[in-house]
Amino acid sequence: MKQKNPFSPLEFVNKQVREIPPSGIRRFFDIAATMEDVISLGVGEPDFVTPWHIRSEAVRSLEKGRTYYTANAGLMELRQEIARYQEKNIHVSYDPKTEIVVTVGASEALDGALRALVEPGDEVLIPEPSFVCYKPCTVLAGGIPVPIETKAENGFKLTPELLRNAITEKTKLLVLPYPNNPTGGIMTEEDLSLIVPIIKEANIMVISDEIYSELTYTGKHVSIATFDGMKERTVVINGFSKAFAMTGWRLGYACAHPDVLSAILKIHQYGIMSASTFSQYAAIEALKHGRADIERMKEEYNIRRKFLVDALNEMGMTCFNPYGAFYVFPSIQKFHMTSEEFCQKLLEEQRLAVVPGTAFGDSGEGYVRISYAYSKESIAKALKRLEAFAKDH
Ligand code: PLP
Repeated sequence: MKQKNPFSPLEFVNKQVREIPPSGIRRFFDIAATMEDVISLGVGEPDFVTPWHIRSEAVRSLEKGRTYYTANAGLMELRQEIARYQEKNIHVSYDPKTEIVVTVGASEALDGALRALVEPGDEVLIPEPSFVCYKPCTVLAGGIPVPIETKAENGFKLTPELLRNAITEKTKLLVLPYPNNPTGGIMTEEDLSLIVPIIKEANIMVISDEIYSELTYTGKHVSIATFDGMKERTVVINGFSKAFAMTGWRLGYACAHPDVLSAILKIHQYGIMSASTFSQYAAIEALKHGRADIERMKEEYNIRRKFLVDALNEMGMTCFNPYGAFYVFPSIQKFHMTSEEFCQKLLEEQRLAVVPGTAFGDSGEGYVRISYAYSKESIAKALKRLEAFAKDH
């Protein structure tokens, strides 16, 4: 065969992948990395180092020569601990043998769940603003993402009306992203009770991303899987990155009905094999003895949350009071700039990096995401720069 000249590798790249935009969160940090004296309140990653007792378990596992693959679904002891944790925290019983898979972060669990459930042409409902991976992973699974615009005045919740209006005959699945990144919105037991009958009537499944479940500042997180008849309809996703400050360990999990779980497991088996072994040993320790660490970090986040929300409101940047995760999502409408322009100017003029709301869907226009997973000193310094910016504009 005659070779085309000049050879173009891009022509060989899958069209769908070519068309997916790269994550809007990272873009500003790549620019910021080339500048000096930048303060960033951009990345959604705990500033705490993983507690030592957890790290030392990983070291011990390596010293003991535990350097082999684990079972595809993860170490049985870890799955048993996850089952115990879920029973205690969301009051749902999962069989560690058939209903839990340990994954490479919640990210892999989300991708696996979408690929396991979505057929070409299926519609996947995604309340927005929300985390950046739901949409592209839906597209890669052959599905059609259907964004549902949530509003600050409703606490960025998925209301029954919004859900009902978005359901069509093609709807297969709802992604439930609460506590929410980037808005900090949560769904209370009452909020969930209003959407459960609609989900059942429409006969759809739910992927509930509960990665921020431990970071709920007004009472305890409630999972939709606890409702009658909802365990089998829901894939619960969680992980170790946020609650235990273990982002770099890349460990998460999915809990689901055995029929769905075995499908996710097949994808995991062929694409990943098993999650990192020493990370799994560390995670067992985290679940067994990490409760006090979670509470300590959460207390600190809560102090920063209040500090930041008060300061932003004082500055006239109307700020929805976030009840979960570690982000605030203030309105920038009074500046008469798009979110992108605002972030670009703030970075250029004040060397402060935050994320445009549009990185989380079109409905994020008019907002920016500010993370408080940073030290109070960094937050205070950043606020001074933001104040100077507000004065100039
Ligand atoms: N889900 C949400 C809502 C997130 O914000 C993140 C990370 O920022 C993830 C999932 C992915 O977490 P992990 O580090 O476990 O892959």
